[in-house]
Amino acid sequence: MPQGIRRPHEAVDYNALTRMYPPPPEYFETTWLDDRETIEAKQLARVKDRATRAYRVPFFRRRWDAAGFDPRSIESLADLDRIPFYSVDDIRKSIEAHPPLGDYQGVHPDDAVREPMRVFMSGGTTGTSRPTLYTTWDRMAGSILTARALYMQGIRPGDTVLNAWAYSTHNGAFSMDEALYNWLNCVVLTTGTGTVTSSQRQIELAIQYGAKAILTTGDYLLRLADKAREMGIDPKNDLKLCALPNIGDRELLEATFGTPNYQSYGFHEVQWIATECPARQGLHIQEDAFIVQVVDVDTGEPLPDGELGSLVVTELYKTGSPQFRYNIMDLSYLHPPERCACGSWQRRMGPFSGRGDNMVKLRGVNVWPEALGEIVTTHDAVTEDYFVRAVRENNRDEMIVMVTTERAASDHDGVRDELETLLKEKIGVKFSVEVVAPGSLDPLTEIKTSPKPKRFRDERS
Ligand SMILES: [Zn+2]
Repeated sequence: MPQGIRRPHEAVDYNALTRMYPPPPEYFETTWLDDRETIEAKQLARVKDRATRAYRVPFFRRRWDAAGFDPRSIESLADLDRIPFYSVDDIRKSIEAHPPLGDYQGVHPDDAVREPMRVFMSGGTTGTSRPTLYTTWDRMAGSILTARALYMQGIRPGDTVLNAWAYSTHNGAFSMDEALYNWLNCVVLTTGTGTVTSSQRQIELAIQYGAKAILTTGDYLLRLADKAREMGIDPKNDLKLCALPNIGDRELLEATFGTPNYQSYGFHEVQWIATECPARQGLHIQEDAFIVQVVDVDTGEPLPDGELGSLVVTELYKTGSPQFRYNIMDLSYLHPPERCACGSWQRRMGPFSGRGDNMVKLRGVNVWPEALGEIVTTHDAVTEDYFVRAVRENNRDEMIVMVTTERAASDHDGVRDELETLLKEKIGVKFSVEVVAPGSLDPLTEIKTSPKPKRFRDERS
């Protein structure tokens, strides 16, 4: 063996890993049933360790020093409230100042010979794509968490599963793949999205291999159901899906495929946080790996249980790039730490209930309306004015970008076509553009009556 290389299988003590984070189904006989005292004791020990590691990272050290916070001073979980949180804006600034990785990473590619690692980026976002470096431990621990969530949603060891997420720079498809392969012994059909493997072929493969689940957005799964019907295949009786780990229109998904859909929550940098149990009274947070808090969107003050605010997430399982008090600006609330009807004391949170800012998730891509405005207003024909609407059409989310132009009405169609092409190029998904005369957007933007013009309206029910 060449000197000095530490291979991925040597970089992780798998016995220690599975003791700390039991994979399914063992998880449901062990950690899942921990009482509150055990849960909180584990969290405190892990959060102290994570704080020490995070403090070695310039991004955290700078912010904590400025706030006068010493990570050695953590004595109880309540001390977390003393630690400043950060948001996606702070990460963006870190990347701008230290491209391309920012200074929030806990490991560096220069160390890869000793510390094997992977890099993934936040979904083709309209802002800067946020990279995260993961050590082998982080991938393995993270995929255990994902495997638990997939198990809770009905996937069983040995199942064949279609993975129709995009295998790209984004984490999603790989997280699922690693969870299914490493911890559930599932046979994964790596179809990728409909542009990689046609919808018809996805249905054919699902039938031929008896797939138990098709991992993708709820919207795309519903389009696959339409495609199946076109092919003379009944989505409920011919496709034999036993799990619906898809986020979307729950009632429609359940009616279409005849199997329960459980809600879940997670995001790029930390992977899978919480999943609903059959009691359907909230999403159980994986508390051996996360602490989830809720703060007021405007003031940042901690909110009591039950009140809707922005989620602040601290992961407790990584060894690479920390996420310590990350204010993700997703809105939800916490249930009190009581025992659930299912028997678990793992704390529950409400479902994702919108954004604290204007971000819209469009076919897996995070889109900020303000960024769409920045793109369209670079066009010569377009004035500074714009307005974005999110609508729901034919079981999918769409965004309509409205712009104004001084040009004659006969030129509007041409401007529209150019802008639609430009947006598709820049962001990778399709947007509709509407071109109108100057002043037409004033009732929407309230530009003449409001100190801060409005740029966005969510018209999805
Ligand atoms: Zn439960």
